[in-house]
Amino acid sequence: MRLAILGGPGAGKSTQAEQLCRYLDIAWISTGDMLRGAIATQTELGAQVKAYVEKGDLVPDEIMIELIRQRLLQPDVLKGWLLDGYPRTAFQAEELDFLLDALGQKLDRVIWLEVAEAELMQRSIERSRLDDQPDAVQRRIELLQARTIPILEYYEYRQRVLKIDGNQAPEQVQQELRKMLGDISTDIKNL
Ligand code: ADP
Repeated sequence: MRLAILGGPGAGKSTQAEQLCRYLDIAWISTGDMLRGAIATQTELGAQVKAYVEKGDLVPDEIMIELIRQRLLQPDVLKGWLLDGYPRTAFQAEELDFLLDALGQKLDRVIWLEVAEAELMQRSIERSRLDDQPDAVQRRIELLQARTIPILEYYEYRQRVLKIDGNQAPEQVQQELRKMLGDISTDIKNL
């Protein structure tokens, strides 16, 4: 199965993604973790993206598209994958389609983990990661509205979106996700 999960900062994407990938035995591809890892180990990529990530800005599309292109060429993706935090802009979504076409693959579903804005702010501030300073969180919420929510329409039009209420307890969200994906797994095989 090939999936993407989208949601605001603090929506619980990573928690859900990790558990779901273990359950489905697919590769977990978190762009946020890849970028934070590159910054921590001071690679060339890390130097390029540090300022964006710390401010809560989006890393330029060209960098992200190339990062994902290289990641999807690794052998572990053959068992299926979940993109956590990607695509986040219309351009990334279009380029992902082109890339998958070229690879002869298809994105089966996009999970939209919906959480109210005030709750996102609260949860992110409690977490206090390097890029969780209040200004950066605010910026990420703005960018979620301006850049990421519009791409849901693109996927809704293709009937690919699975919307989940992320205000519930994490175990409940996970259970619901597994159930929804179980229900559609026959459809997916026929896509
Ligand atoms: P969040 O908790 O905001 O969902 P992530 O861990 O997914 O955070 O991403 C952290 C940061 O990494 C983002 O604020 C952004 O700077 C950068 N980033 C991650 N994914 C992308 C992407 N697809 N496009 C551009 N920037 C990204």
